[in-house]
Amino acid sequence: MHEVTTEYFDVAIVGGRVAGSSAATHLARAGLSVLLLERAKLPSDTLSTHTIQDLDCLQRLGVLKRVLATGSPPMPRSTLWMDDCDLSVGHPEQPWLSVRRTTLDELLLDTARQAGADVRLERKVTGLLRTDHDGRVRGLRYEDPYGRHLTVSCRLVVGADGRSSTVGRLVGARKYNRSGNERGAVWRYFQDLPAPPEFFFCRRGSDLLLAAPCDQGRVMLSVQPALKETAAYRAPGEIERMFLRRARPWGQGNHEWGDLLADATPEGAANMVLRYACFFRESAGPGWVLLGDASHVKDVVTGQGICDALRHAEQLTARVSHGWGSDRSLDSATRGWWRSKDRDAAPMYWLSRDMGKAGVTSPLYGSFFARIAASPRLKLRLQEVLGRRYGVRRFIAPYRFALVIAAQLRKGEVPVDTTLREAGQLVRTEAARRWAGIRPRYERQRNEQAREIGSERETGAVR
Ligand SMILES: Cc1cc2nc3c(=O)[nH]c(=O)nc-3n(C[C@H](O)[C@H](O)[C@H](O)COP(=O)(O)OP(=O)(O)OC[C@H]3O[C@@H](n4cnc5c(N)ncnc54)[C@H](O)[C@@H]3O)c2cc1C
Repeated sequence: MHEVTTEYFDVAIVGGRVAGSSAATHLARAGLSVLLLERAKLPSDTLSTHTIQDLDCLQRLGVLKRVLATGSPPMPRSTLWMDDCDLSVGHPEQPWLSVRRTTLDELLLDTARQAGADVRLERKVTGLLRTDHDGRVRGLRYEDPYGRHLTVSCRLVVGADGRSSTVGRLVGARKYNRSGNERGAVWRYFQDLPAPPEFFFCRRGSDLLLAAPCDQGRVMLSVQPALKETAAYRAPGEIERMFLRRARPWGQGNHEWGDLLADATPEGAANMVLRYACFFRESAGPGWVLLGDASHVKDVVTGQGICDALRHAEQLTARVSHGWGSDRSLDSATRGWWRSKDRDAAPMYWLSRDMGKAGVTSPLYGSFFARIAASPRLKLRLQEVLGRRYGVRRFIAPYRFALVIAAQLRKGEVPVDTTLREAGQLVRTEAARRWAGIRPRYERQRNEQAREIGSERETGAVR
């Protein structure tokens, strides 16, 4: 294998979609020299139903105007149904948006170029360079479209290379907080579907449906049935049939789905995602970090991956700029970012897991949603939770569940042992989840301390 030259950049980013390009933009604006390597030929689509619930991330990145210019209508209202609980709410101050990834990813990449990042497509990263004496990552190896193998040295490698992260594999980053999805997702685009500019989400029995108008006049309709039922919905006309059967009673705005779908023309084949793993990955080490889906993947039902990637890229840049001085301060900065990123992501990760469960809603969650449905203030809060303006744990707080449990016991509509069993399960699950989040860091710290003590002993250092 013939290896060519070593160029130098401060930061080399692997992956050029939402995580990679937003990190490239922020880091380049912070004054660092940035190389972004992406193996695909962009623009191209990727599997996503692309709802964006926090437009401030796009605003801070400086792309909101351009994104709006694509014709994606801001959605100032969400029609949300959990069985018979109407959680619909208007949020004109914080509208949502849905932009197909071919469009969004290209705009973000262009912004990175404008910020000064060196963006190179069709470059596949294949290896990492490390210093001999301590194994610190100090660059990477990649292959260009002409089959040449090139190397780049840098102070920080950012793996923004998605759920099957190459960087994660090369540094041996372990996974934790593992779970799986119980629903698949099937979605399709429609032209000439006169849906109002509103987000539509409805879970009824074991069915889950969503819809959103997106760029260039298209509307995306998605069905998220239990995994074993998914394949049936891929057949032409099935998504429409599901909306007519299950969502018709509620319609969208003042319209019935039957009217809306009457003249709609499906565009392209249905997209489908079946089983996928949900997890967190160790996200920082000497000379490397993992960002976006490379660092954690959650159930897609809450549609949070894009904004998480944008927000975490921004926070990473602030930490890296602050710690850039020495390798030691840089490592401490990236480890600090990893901790704060996990604190930020874990509650939504578990909420997504709960909301994405297959089957019917449990009595306890049913009562919880009924409580929200009865209060306009709580409905708005739920919207703020999804828009990441209000903490998940503050909203789904133990005291709120205690109130629901007490009311359920008082009313006696649900057998006492069912309520108590569900309450006990809730407490055990929450405790296990919190411990699962802490354990890897605790173990890693213990291992690092053991290594330090070992090396000090070897060199005869005195503590
Ligand atoms: C069905 C589905 C629906 C979803 N719906 C929503 C939603 O409504 N809202 C939302 O916010 N999120 C949603 N998500 C999640 C969202 O799509 C992801 O969180 C987001 O795409 C993560 O972006 P990323 O940049 O981290 O990774 P990716 O989008 O996976 O990008 C990684 C990039 O790295 C590149 N790469 C990989 N390996 C290499 C290598 N060795 N060398 C060079 N390049 C490499 C890949 O080519 C790819 O372009 C959904 C996901 C799915 C599957």
